[in-house]
Amino acid sequence: MRERVLRGVAAAPGVGEGPACVLDAAPASRRRGLASARDGLETAAAELEEIARRLLEQGRRPEAEIVETGALMARDPALWARVEALVRSAGRPAAGALREAVEEMAAQLEALDDPLLAERADDVRSLGRRAAARAAGVRREAASGLLVAESIGPAEVAELAPEVKGIALAGGGVTAHAAIVARSLGVPMVIGLGPALLEVAAGEVIVVDGDWGELVRHPTPERLAAAREAGERRLAARRRALAGRGEPAVTSDGRAVRVLANAASPAEVLEALAQGAEGVGLLRTELLFLDSRSWPDARQHARFLEPILAPLAGRTATVRLLDFGGDKTPPFLRGAAGRGVELLLEAPAALEAQLRGILAAAGGVELRILVPMVTARAQVEAVRASLRRAADGARMPALGAMIETPAAARAAAELAAVLDFLSIGTNDLTQLVLGLDRERSSLGPVLHPAVLRLVAATIRAGQAAGIPVEVCGEAASDPTATPLLVGLGADELSVGAARVGEVREWVRALSYEECRAAAKSALLGQPVDAAGERV
Ligand code: PEP
Ligand code: MG
Repeated sequence: MRERVLRGVAAAPGVGEGPACVLDAAPASRRRGLASARDGLETAAAELEEIARRLLEQGRRPEAEIVETGALMARDPALWARVEALVRSAGRPAAGALREAVEEMAAQLEALDDPLLAERADDVRSLGRRAAARAAGVRREAASGLLVAESIGPAEVAELAPEVKGIALAGGGVTAHAAIVARSLGVPMVIGLGPALLEVAAGEVIVVDGDWGELVRHPTPERLAAAREAGERRLAARRRALAGRGEPAVTSDGRAVRVLANAASPAEVLEALAQGAEGVGLLRTELLFLDSRSWPDARQHARFLEPILAPLAGRTATVRLLDFGGDKTPPFLRGAAGRGVELLLEAPAALEAQLRGILAAAGGVELRILVPMVTARAQVEAVRASLRRAADGARMPALGAMIETPAAARAAAELAAVLDFLSIGTNDLTQLVLGLDRERSSLGPVLHPAVLRLVAATIRAGQAAGIPVEVCGEAASDPTATPLLVGLGADELSVGAARVGEVREWVRALSYEECRAAAKSALLGQPVDAAGERV
């Protein structure tokens, strides 16, 4: 059969080849949804039983018993009744219903205030993830395959990333959170491939090219070989990043730039540290709670954060408060207007609970707390008051604001006066300034002069107040934007874990003086190629 190329938009770099694993789109009918949910639970139970059997063969009885309990839970009639109700009455797709039902079960276990049962809550969640993935059509054979789907959320990407070599979506947006998580974990991703993608058959060998934004059906042997080579080159680049971790991120003329990582899982933190990250510049806490049925309590926050923060002892850990809303809306907030701090201030007990949870989990780190989607100084003052109550006389951590709305950028000086650091979110800022739709837009981080002017004004405000300014949006790891951000005087760049080594390498290859000149031209709307070529 002749090779056929489908064109989409590059969302996460890299090339992957292998058999397609086609995810079930939202089930066409409730009956099918129920059948998928039943199949998901049954398959998960059978897999767990198989794992337990192997553990027993190895003489590991205690572990086998724990795994066996997971299989029993999967067959719990009460769990099934709840899943059935969510599919039948609430019209939830199978995978969503499974995740919601297990989240409820996990929350009930945690509410019993028994540490042993609280540990079981995580086992239930793990069972839910396994069952939801199976219900959505992801089989274990998908390991080392390429995921093909209509659309996918950030939580699924985080869950599936370790198992897949690439992701291809019919819809999606480059700055949507699913794409951000894919980039962060180094999984190639192409989006916007259109309905033709859904003709790809399960098991069909395809190539997903996240550099060129293409998916190739019936690839020629030459194409497959090239894809394999590209995969090996990426591995070599990673090895280089690991080897260079000890080299400082300082420009050729001596300006030091702190390179931090964006992370939401222990795996990302470990990868970032291995590549030389000086800490975490953005921990997106909301990604941990996208299936929640209610605002998380302090203990849930602490339990989720502990394993992420543990490897960061002695280093900067910037924990962002829940940024719910948009494509990060959990079931209990469906239909709510507003985003980020606005929603938190409407739920003051939830805000204080998160602050208490963070403080409890952050014992060993250099903690910074970051407020999302700020639009006014009064919001950060309200958060500081809540933080003071949560700290209850203990040392207050640094407090900073995301500058990701035009209102915040315009108020940067006023905000800088009452904060300890600023963090520029170029993803939302770009979309809001240029009026783009973040979940659908095929445009990546844009170096539009209107956005750059707001970035420049924010950095100046931080400098005038004597506080550090980081950039944590995707522009921080964009080869054209990075030199301009360095030239504008950004103190810190926080980038996807898989990009840390590369960005540190770029910084070493830059001249601060040349970056300053390039930034000046870019602010005037002149071409910026010279800076882009330098990296
Ligand atoms: C941003 O908007 O640039 C940002 C980093 O926040 P998020 O991508 O999580 O919205
Ligand atoms: Mg944002």
